[in-house]
This record gives sequence, structure tokens and C-alpha cells, in this order.
Amino acid sequence: MIAKILINTSVKSLNKVYDYLVPEHLINDVEIGKRVQVSFGRGKNLEEGIIVKLEEPTETPKYKLKEIESILDDVSYVSPERLKLAKYIAYVYFCNVYDALKLMLPPGTKSKNSSKSLETRKDSVISLAKSSEEIMQDIEANVIKSPKQIQLLSFLMYNEYVLVNDIIEGLSISRSVINTAEKNGYVKIDKVEKEVDFLKDLEVERTYPLTPTDEQKHVIDSITGYIYDEEYKQCLIHGVTGSGKTEVYLQLIDRVLSQGRKAIVLVPEISLTYQTVERFVSRFGNDIAILHSKMTIAKRKEEYKRIKTGKVNIVIGARSAIFAPLDDIGLIIIDEEHDTSYYSQTKPKYSTKDIAAYICKESNAVLVLGSATPEISTYNKALNGQIELFEMKNRAASAKLPDIEIIDLKDDRAMGNSSNISIALKEAIKQNIENNEQTMLFLNKRGYNSYLTCKTCGQVFNCPNCDVAMTYHKSSNLLLCHYCSHVEKNVLICPKCGSEDISSYQLGTEKLEEELQEAFPNISVLRMDADTTVARDSQQKILDDFKHNNVNVLIGTQMISKGHDMPNVTLVGIIGTDALLAMNDFSSSERAFANIYQVSGRAGRSKKEGRVLIQASDTENYILEAVKHNSYQEFFEKEIEYRKTFGYPPFIDILLFEVSGANLQDVKLDAEKLYNILNYDNQNEYRVFSPKSPYIQKLNNRFRVNVMIKARLNTKIYSEVYNKIKIFNQKKKNGTSLSITKNPIFI
Ligand code: ADP
Ligand code: ZN
Ligand code: ZN
Repeated sequence: MIAKILINTSVKSLNKVYDYLVPEHLINDVEIGKRVQVSFGRGKNLEEGIIVKLEEPTETPKYKLKEIESILDDVSYVSPERLKLAKYIAYVYFCNVYDALKLMLPPGTKSKNSSKSLETRKDSVISLAKSSEEIMQDIEANVIKSPKQIQLLSFLMYNEYVLVNDIIEGLSISRSVINTAEKNGYVKIDKVEKEVDFLKDLEVERTYPLTPTDEQKHVIDSITGYIYDEEYKQCLIHGVTGSGKTEVYLQLIDRVLSQGRKAIVLVPEISLTYQTVERFVSRFGNDIAILHSKMTIAKRKEEYKRIKTGKVNIVIGARSAIFAPLDDIGLIIIDEEHDTSYYSQTKPKYSTKDIAAYICKESNAVLVLGSATPEISTYNKALNGQIELFEMKNRAASAKLPDIEIIDLKDDRAMGNSSNISIALKEAIKQNIENNEQTMLFLNKRGYNSYLTCKTCGQVFNCPNCDVAMTYHKSSNLLLCHYCSHVEKNVLICPKCGSEDISSYQLGTEKLEEELQEAFPNISVLRMDADTTVARDSQQKILDDFKHNNVNVLIGTQMISKGHDMPNVTLVGIIGTDALLAMNDFSSSERAFANIYQVSGRAGRSKKEGRVLIQASDTENYILEAVKHNSYQEFFEKEIEYRKTFGYPPFIDILLFEVSGANLQDVKLDAEKLYNILNYDNQNEYRVFSPKSPYIQKLNNRFRVNVMIKARLNTKIYSEVYNKIKIFNQKKKNGTSLSITKNPIFI
């Protein structure tokens, strides 16, 4: 038997398959979708590949075929349908088929180069054994010298409980570097126990379907019809916050299970907390597999196996759960469908909603998107009839929508108030404390990041390898780059003008907490942002603490905006709105609107009425007007007009070509070359924009320049673009590389 095998290699023309002989002793184990090891080319090392086809040869091959060395999987995770999906992804998002296949394989199963010792410690997590301050002091005192040690330790300062394996593969840090750090007492390595096992830890009380409201009933009945028809259908549930969308999802899942089919539920990573998962587990018990990023590789593999072997009917997870090896899917639900986490920012840069639509089409399933603030393109499709639209205008538990006021910061400044908390907000917080009700303050900037600037000449201390400001650590007087881990010590004078008048600039949630404590010395305050939630279950702990111990105020970044029902929260203050309203992308407005609207929705979720105070200088902004009127439609109408006038999605598609390399001159020349090639013989079917530098031009010593085209993408344009990429690849310099993003949300 001959196996056609796709090899996992980064060499060009990578989508080619190669023939290998299946040796006698493996005949019973080969299966399409299983990974194998084979020798490839002249290299001595074995390469990983995946079987894409099996066939009996009709004639004897002209040359001697190599044999498959070994089979790596005991189960195949890639069905022929999924193989087809991988090919589709590769084509649409300009990547290799293997890159797309990796999305569908159980995570972390990299077999080649893995030594035995590593194998046994694969599920160990590494974390710091000393405080960041102590480590910084040792770096400053030259006790820690090796750049690799510094890289490892500084990475761990911002990332807790990382899998040893991820460090080795992701940061290219060798085992011996980790061993040295462990020996010197800087890090500790634990067997994984701290991971979140939702099913185990949840003390779930079984819940039963609620009697639906009229609005819910209409949605459930209509979509159930489509589920029973087993026909492809896309639906959008546009329901205000608290309208009971989750209850609708739960009842729809019930229906699809009763049909003997299965369901996938996607939620944004950020809302994948106990509370969201709990609602599903308490309804469906063990019939659920959960996939999320804070799981160990072993645990994720176990869940993959439960899914693949038919032990569960429901999968819930973040973006990547769309690729779970679930058969016979009848329903896919994407909650908070406007969330940007549904767009992958790493290769392959796919849109989860597009993939979900593809899968549903192939399996005659129903795709349900839900949000209080749908993405502009989604809502546009709904109005055009490509997606069936359901509106839910009322809150389910008869709670009213909150009362929203805009506070003009110009007035505050005129009155001499320079605090981040306006006079009106301060008064409202005071009242709330007196009434024994709770307050949430939202500020979308996290806290202890501080930067160093020269007061004399204004010099900002940037990383020499990247176009970003380094973070200042006051206690040890060190500057650190979060992108490449470059460290600078003893910054006492400005490198540009020699002045010693250097100061650190602070902003964010930590500062706000300080100001609040100053104004109200005796109240209890909690803060929730990326800095206070590094540990695996800290997010949940903070929320529980806030809810059950009647803490007065919760300060937080967008983390506080989703998925939590806090009945005693009656006041929401939104701070730093002007920064949110600043336009730097065509899609910034919709993100700002969604953000502000969703945070507002946290107020008054039960019987007590809610109040929202939004602080801003740009008070006439159309986004704020729409928020104030609680009107998504008002925002949509303005925004869609703007997109149409200036030529942005959904009226046109964008392809963003990023040329990158270590030599800026080469990158610029190649970008120019690419621009000319794309423009050559262009029949006006698309528009090419001249090369531009992105906001951060240099990252990790690689320069980037972008070329953009706008077009209505179709197969003809695709094939033209593919031809032109081919020409570019022949003409480009050796050191530069090209990556392409279809409809990026950030340009
Ligand atoms: P959404 O997902 O739209 O934000 P939720 O599903 O979280 O809304 O519902 C908001 C609140 O209303 C929850 O506390 C939920 O338990 C309650 N709720 C939802 N549907 C019903 C119903 N049919 N009857 C009573 N309460 C309901
Ligand atoms: Zn200076
Ligand atoms: Zn850097």
C-alpha cells in the first residue's frame, strides 16, 4: 500500500504530497489523518508528516519508495472532511496546508526532537521562585549575566505557570538554561496541579430550562425549526445585555441533542470563566468537553480524545475549539460574536466566523451568532438577508436598561478638578456607598506599566531592537522590553541630551485605585486587570470576592465587561473614554462602541435600577450619543455610512501584505517591488496602495512594511494574486519574507 504524505516543513512549495510505502507491520494502523515519521530529502532527521491518502499502486513505481518509519497517533484527528477544510483555509488565508492542519491536531504533540527526559516532564509548569524585585536586583548586580537567563526570567515575570515545553519550543530556550535557573533557585518546576479543571472543581447544581419569555420563545421556536430541517442556516440573535441569550443557547442545544446531533459553543477567551462554563455544565453535566488556553497539554489531549471517541456531545471553548474533532455537528453557537478574539492574529490568520460558516454548510448545520453589539459586517449581512435576524429588545428578568449620562470633563477642568474621577462620579460613588450598593469603574489601560522620559528634551526610552517604549522598574532602576526581553541597567542620564532630569510616567488602573483610596479612605476596593490575574484562577477569585463580600468598588480593564451577573452593581463609571474614541483603524469605532456599551450593561442587571456615568471630553461624539440612547441601530447607521463613503469592509475586502526582514533597505525595496508587481497589468479589479510602515515598524530586529489592496475578492482575483506572489517570491531578496492577511481588523 502507498500512503500520500504531506510533510511538515517550512520549505517552499510545501503543499506537495509525497509517496511512501506502508510497511507490512503498519498496514493495520495506517489511517487518513494520522501523523507519521518519515525520512525526507537528504536530511538524516526524521520529519513529521500526515497521511492524506491511501491507495494500492496500479503499477510498480518507477523508483524505489521510502517506507514510513512509524505512526505517531493512535487515533486519527483529521477526517477527510477536515482535510478539505484545511485546504480551504490554506487557500483563503494564504498559508500552508500543514499550518492549517496544526489547528486541528491535539495541541503540543510535537514528536520530533523530543528527548525522553523532556517527554516525562512535558506537563510540568515553570514559575518564578523569587519575586520580580529580587530578580531585578540580581540582574542589576550582575549576579545574573547570561542573556538567555535574563530572557527566561523576564518572560516569566509577565507570564506565570508556563509549560516547560512551551518555553522550550516557543522561546527557543534550551533545557539546560531552565535547569541552571532552577539550580540557582530562580525558578521552580511543578507537576501540573494548579490547572483549572472546571468539571472537577464545580459543585454544580443541576438547573432546568426556564420558561422562556415571549421574545425568547420566538427565537427558540424559529431556530429549532431550522435545526429539525437539518439545513444550513445562519442566524444572528441581536439581544440587549441581559436579554437572556444564554438561556436561548441552552435550549437550542437541548433540541439539537434530541435530534441525535452535536453542538459547539464558542465564547471569547476572556469570558471563559467558571460562571459561563458553569451555566452549561449545570444544564448538561458531563456531556461537555471544555477547551481553553489555561489547560495543560495532557488535559487538552484528554479532552480531544473524549471528543473524538464520542464521549461528549457538546464542546465549549475559545476560538480554537471550532476545530475540535466533533462529528455530526448540528449547531454552532458563537457568543459575543463581535469579540476580536475570534480573529486569529497568528498564522493562519483566520476568521472563526467564516470557518464556522464553512463547517455548518458542509454538515447542514445551523450557525447562531449572538451579541448585544454585533460586528458591523455581521449586522449588515443580517439586514441584507444573508443571515436571519432575531431581535431581543428587553431584559429577561424584567430588569430595566440602565440610565446613561455623559460627564463633560471640560467642565471639571474649568472647575479646577484634575483628578481622574470627576466631581459627578465622585458624588455618585459616595451615594452608592451610603446605599450599600456596588460600583464598577472601567479604565481600559492596565496599571503598573511605566515609561521613562527625559524632562529636558522629551526623549522616550525605546528598545534598540523594537519600536516600542521599554517598561521601567523603579525599585531596581532597570528598563525592560516586553517584546524581546532586552534589558538596560542604571538609566541615570538621557542618552540624547545628557540631562539627569528623567522621570517615569504612570497611567492606568493602579493610579486610579490610588486616587480612589485617597478620596474614600475607608472603602474596600478590588482591582482586576492583566497584572492582578496572572495566576490561573485569580480572575474568578476576584469576582467571587467582589460579589459575596460586598466590596464597594471593582476597578478593572475590559475584563470586567463580560459575562458576570452582579445583582448589587448599580453604578458603572467609565473613565479614559477619550482614548477609546481615538481613531486609529477603520474598526476602532465599532470596538469602542461595543466596549462602552457592554460595560454599561453591567449596571442594574436585576431589580435595582442601574446608572452609568461616562467621562469624556469629546462629548458630541456619535459613538457616545448612540450609547447614551442605548441604541445599537443609531450607531450602526452612522458607521455603515462611513464605511461606504471611505471604502472599507463590508463594502470591500482588504488584503494586507506584510514584507519583513532584518535589513530595512531590503524590506523597503522589496515592498516597492511587490507594489509594482501587484499593480502590473491591473485591470482595475482592485486598488493597490503604496507601501506604508505600520505603527510599530521594528519588532525583534525585523522591519516591516505593508502593501494593501482593496477589492471585492473572488476566485479570479485570488488566482491573480497567487500568480503575482509567485513572481514576487522569485524576485525578492533572500532575507525578506512575505505574509498576507485577509480582512485584518487592525491595519
Ligand atoms: P444575556 O446572555 O443575553 O446577557 P443572560 O442569559 O445572562 O442574558 O440572562 C440575564 C439574566 O436573566 C440571567 O440572570 C438569567 O438567569 C435571567 N433569565 C434569562 N432568561 C430567563 C427567563 N426565561 N426567565 C427568568 N429569568 C431569565
Ligand atoms: Zn534628554
Ligand atoms: Zn525589544
